[in-house]
Parts: sequence; structure tokens; C-alpha cells
Amino acid sequence: MANLDLFAADPGDSADQARMQTLHGLLHAYAHQYYVLDAPQVPDAEYDRLFQELQALEAAHPEWVTPDSPTRRVGGKPLAQFASVRHAVPMLSIRTETDTEASGAQNFDARVRKELGLLDTDPAVEYVAELKFDGLAINLRYEHGVLVQTATRGDGETGEDVTQNIRTIGQIPLRLPVEAPAILEVRGEVYMRRDDFEAMNEKQRDKGEKTFVNPRNAAAGAVRQLDPGIAAQRPLSFFAYGLGEVTPVEQGGPAFGTHYDLLQTLKHWGFPVAALVERASGAPELIAYHQRIGQMRDQLPYDIDGVVYKVNSLALQRQLGFVTREPRWAVAHKYPAQEQITKVLGIDVQVGRTGKLTPVARLDPVFVGGTTVSNATLHNLFELRRKKVRVGDSAIVRRAGDVIPEVVGIVSTGPRATYVPNFRMPRTCPVCGSTVVREKAEVNHRCSGGLFCAAQRKQAILHFAQRRAVEVEGLGEKLVDQLVESNTIRTLPDLYKLGLTSLAALDRMAEKSAQNIVDALEKSKRTTLPRFLFGLGIRHVGEATAKELVRHFGTLDAIMDASEEALVSVNDVGPIVAKSLHTFFAQKHNREVVEQLRACGLTWEEGEPAAQAPKPLAGKTFVLTGTFPTLSRDQAKDLLEAAGAKVAGSVSKKTDYVVAGAEAGSKLEKAQALGVAVIDEAAMTALLQGEQDGSP
Ligand code: NAD
Repeated sequence: MANLDLFAADPGDSADQARMQTLHGLLHAYAHQYYVLDAPQVPDAEYDRLFQELQALEAAHPEWVTPDSPTRRVGGKPLAQFASVRHAVPMLSIRTETDTEASGAQNFDARVRKELGLLDTDPAVEYVAELKFDGLAINLRYEHGVLVQTATRGDGETGEDVTQNIRTIGQIPLRLPVEAPAILEVRGEVYMRRDDFEAMNEKQRDKGEKTFVNPRNAAAGAVRQLDPGIAAQRPLSFFAYGLGEVTPVEQGGPAFGTHYDLLQTLKHWGFPVAALVERASGAPELIAYHQRIGQMRDQLPYDIDGVVYKVNSLALQRQLGFVTREPRWAVAHKYPAQEQITKVLGIDVQVGRTGKLTPVARLDPVFVGGTTVSNATLHNLFELRRKKVRVGDSAIVRRAGDVIPEVVGIVSTGPRATYVPNFRMPRTCPVCGSTVVREKAEVNHRCSGGLFCAAQRKQAILHFAQRRAVEVEGLGEKLVDQLVESNTIRTLPDLYKLGLTSLAALDRMAEKSAQNIVDALEKSKRTTLPRFLFGLGIRHVGEATAKELVRHFGTLDAIMDASEEALVSVNDVGPIVAKSLHTFFAQKHNREVVEQLRACGLTWEEGEPAAQAPKPLAGKTFVLTGTFPTLSRDQAKDLLEAAGAKVAGSVSKKTDYVVAGAEAGSKLEKAQALGVAVIDEAAMTALLQGEQDGSP
């Protein structure tokens, strides 16, 4: 660009020139990251802003426009790892109308009318209005009805052969009906549905792995994945919106008159075409379409970044032709961007109803996805660190549909040597002050004050009152919401202090229903220890574990006072469960809640610790096979283990007994071959009762 200096006339010009060079550099770099590497560095809105700034400068100084300008080019260079495909018909871009108001549609209609030389008195131009899917463009080539090749847009002239990956998309027909022409190229957008995207990211997050920035980026990454096995696991979808090369009419090809007919025919041949495609007459109907789709945008199952208007008549399309990289007969009319840049003012921690602690970025309010956003989730500490978020940074915020706004990345301000975080997860819960824990191999931090923590109150009460726990009949979600929100109950024990009067005072509560709740509460007081223990909602302590604990320790006090070592010696209790139990009962307020519940009259029978109960089968190994007459396999296993036996999955010389039921298979044969004692259910029951060895 050195020769541009020749034109530098006044200081303003040289400033413009320098700015143009800067924009060239930035836009080339951003486009490369976006199109070639599938790793955008800035939101689209920021890219579009710079792009338009360059367009404006080029319009003011047409003599400085160079053929390598980002405004002259489509997409990015194809990756060398893929075979290249030269497009029979170039794959172009579409002019973007970033004016998101009605004037965007009016300007387009006015331009079309002018190009066609229409007068104000001439009738309205007919258009087709479509959604602008946010994915990536694909060309599908069919020869004699068979899908032979699929390619990305690449730089518009040459794309990448991604046939292997595209074949895995179930919505794309591999064969066409006989009436399809000998050569047919269908163009459309490969995209990822929002729910598929969210589910995929959720999985990545749980595994503590890298998440994808947005559905477009995830789809582009999947299509250009070198391993088709991985591509096949990514849930992709497709919509058709146009044609490439087609057998000419004179050689027996189809004679389409309008774009709309063409789309209907594609649908007929088995391609997915969006249901929201419509014919629109003149600017007013385009505006109405833009507004209507804009209102539906959040509810659509996929991301769109705008709508596309195309002149319907193919003859008029030919007449209008192209400018550099864009057809004159189409325009993309955008909606407010779903990603924007803003500043992170602080990072707060929110406690969810299950006790999960979520770091949330407090933002300089920004208009994104159609609303003003001032908070965005960072999901968990690991994700925050992977994205290198710091208070004070410029962050990229995404808000799409009804998904909660999130920080998807940081705008890098050049290479940062090392990332020094300036946020720490609190050690105690910001809501209730209980210890915060994070389990091994878990990405989430949690508050351990389940019963006590105000953030978790509703969840805790519902869990306690459920049928499989202490069971308070009729105490459902709506009532719990009412009770907690009106501050009628603050802690679990408050539940048992509810009187008829306070219940009947609640909105929409008839006296009879209030009486039913009082009765149900009274009835729930006689419970069992496993139900009570399960009802406390201690993380990882399900019904089965609660039963094991009670069988082992006998009393609640023994469980509450047990050391981690003692807890791990219980069947089915591993170090994670033991730690969770121990942390729970180490919190003073959790113990207080338990004491208050006992004081409210909750009772259960307690037993002898099983450690002192006889273990007639200690040291013996059993293998179970076949179907037993009275017990299920799990029940038999529980009984054997409670009596001290080990239950193994396969027969070896170390097996003491094989218990065989009906239709016993290879395990029985193996036992016979090894000479292991084979007994039936009755003999097993006898052994359990401590009778003498009844085996043959
Ligand atoms: P475009 O995406 O604005 O328009 C052309 C494309 O629209 C087509 O190739 C096709 O894939 C798609 N499309 C979707 N629905 C369509 C329909 N119904 N009919 C026809 N086409 C339809 O143009 P572009 O040149 O691909 O890229 C520009 C976009 O890429 C902008 O939104 C820009 O912000 C973004 N971009 C972002 C970065 C970044 O760093 N964030 C960099 C480069 C480009």
C-alpha cells in the first residue's frame, strides 16, 4: 500500500489513508480467524462496524481501493487439509443492510426500482422474504440424482470438499426423485439448532472442556472437522435456499420462472426449506415481514441474524446482475446483534436452588439480542479461567433467544504474557455463610448449607416433603413458593409450626385444604430413619445410600458423629459420599435443623448398629445367576452383602457359592467345570439365617 502515499494531499487524507490500512489489517485478520480457523476474535457487530467504516472510506476515496480490499472479497481461503473444489457458479455474499429499522427495507426496494428503471406509478416489485440463517453456506452437487460432492463457500471461487462430513446430516437427501435434473447444485445453510448447541456445550462444561462460542461457530467447526467420526456426533441441520449449476433448459433442465417456485420444487424433491418463506409485494410487505419475524426471533429453534429479501422473478434477477461480490437483487436486512462487546465491571456470585455457585459478570449495560443486558453468566470458575476473564476487561456478551446471557469470550488486546485472574471463588456461601465445597473431578462449587441456605430453601423443602422422603401429602411446588415467598417459613422446622390460621391466610387456600395440610404434616411426623436421612437432601445421599447408612450405624446420632473413615466402610459409600456427609454434619446449623425437627416431634425407630449384628457369611464370595423364585437379584445381593458376603460378577476358583435360578447360563456351566458349590435360593436363605452349610 506504499504507493498510496502518492495521493496523500492534505492531512485529513493521510489520516484516512492510515485508517484504511489499519482497517485492511484488522478485517483481514478477523476474517481469517472467522472463516478459516472458525475462531472469531470479535463479535459480528464489531466486524460489521469496521467493514462499513472501510466501505465509507472507499466510497470517499475510490482511487485508493485495491483489489485485495476486504470489501472486494468473499469468505476466506480454503484450508489446505481439504481437497479444493472449484465452484461451477461462484458462491457470493449478500449485501447487508445493518439499518435494523423499516428504512432498511425501503432503501433496498428503492434501489431495485431505480436499477430496473421503474417509475413511481409502476406496480410494486414482488419479492421473496426468507430467514437469514446463521450457519455456513454449503453447495450440494447431485449428478443423475445422487449426491456426489459437497463443498464450503471458501473464497467464493474455490471451496473445501467436505462431502464425508455433510453426508452425516440426516436432513440432506443422498438420492433425488427421478424427475430431478441430471446436474443439480443446491445451496443452503448448515446450522446447529439452539437446543442442540446448548446441550452440546452443557456436556463440554460438565467435562470441564472447551465450549463453543455460538451455534454458527460450532456448526462451522463440525462441517470442517477433519475426522468425520467427530463430525457425525455434532448435531447439524440444513435449510436449502438456492441453486448453483443446473442442467440448462435447452438440455432438458427445469425452467423456473420465479425464486419462489424454485424453493417449492426443492421442497418437493426432499430438501428442507424453511416454512417461514413468503412472497411479499413492495416495501410495505417486506417491512411487515421483518417486524413479524423480529418478534418471533427469540422463540425460533435456531439463530437467525436477519431476513433476506430476493427479487422473485428470475428474469428480473438476471437483469439486475451483480456488483463485485454481491447480487443486486438481494439484501440481508439485519436484526440487533446477539453478541456485543462491553466492560466487565465486577464478578458476583449467585447461589442457585440446588446450591450451585455461579460466577456472574456485572456489565456496563449493553443492548444485545434486543434487550439491555447488565449481567451475564460465566458458568463456573473453570470456564471463567479458560476464557481468561478479568474484572475490567472488555468481554463479548451473547444473548440469543430465551437462553440466559453469557460471556463467551474476552476481546484480546494483543498477546497477554500470562493470565493473572483477579477473581476468587468465595470459601463461604454469599447467601448463608456455609462452607463452599467442590468435589474432585467436579467443575462446580457448591454451598454445603442445603437445609439452611435461603437460596436453596424451596428446593430443600420440596425434597424433604416428597413421597419417597418424609412425605407431606399436598405440599407441592406452588404452595412451597407461596410459603417461602411470604416468609411464612424460613427453615424446614418452620413447616411443623404452621397452624391452620397461617395456612388458611394464604392466597387461594380454602379452609379444607389448609386442614388437609395440617393433617398431612401431623402424619409425616412418624417416619423412618432412612426416609428422614434421604429427606435432608445431603448431596449424593440417595434412598439406597440412606438405607445402607442406617443399616450400618443404626442411629442418626451415630451417622452424624461418624468420621470419614467410618463412613467409607459402609457398603456403597465411597470417599465422595463420605466427604459430603461429613461436611454436611460438620455445619453447626445443619445439626440445629435436625435437632429442631426432632423437637417438632419427628420420630422413627432406631436399630442396633449392624457392625454388631452377626455376619454369618463374612469372607465368602457368591456369584448370582438366573432368575430366583422369590427374590430379585438386587434383593439377593443386598441380603448377602448385609450378611458380610462379597457378591462377584464372574465365577472363578475363589468363588464359594454360585446361586443358580431358572435359566442360569454360562456361569452355571463354569461353576460345574470348576467344581464350585451350586445352590438354589432356598439354600441361600438358609445360609443367610446362619444355618449350617447346606451345599452338596
Ligand atoms: P453474509 O453471511 O452476511 O451473507 C451471505 C451468506 O448468508 C450466504 O453465504 C449464506 O451462507 C447465508 N444465508 C443465510 N440464509 C440465507 C438465505 N435465506 N439466502 C441466501 N443466503 C443465506 O455474508 P458473508 O460474506 O458470509 O459474511 C458476513 C458475515 O460474517 C457478517 O455477519 C459478519 O459479521 C460475519 N463475519 C464475522 C467476523 C468476525 O470476526 N466476527 C469475521 C468475518 C465475517
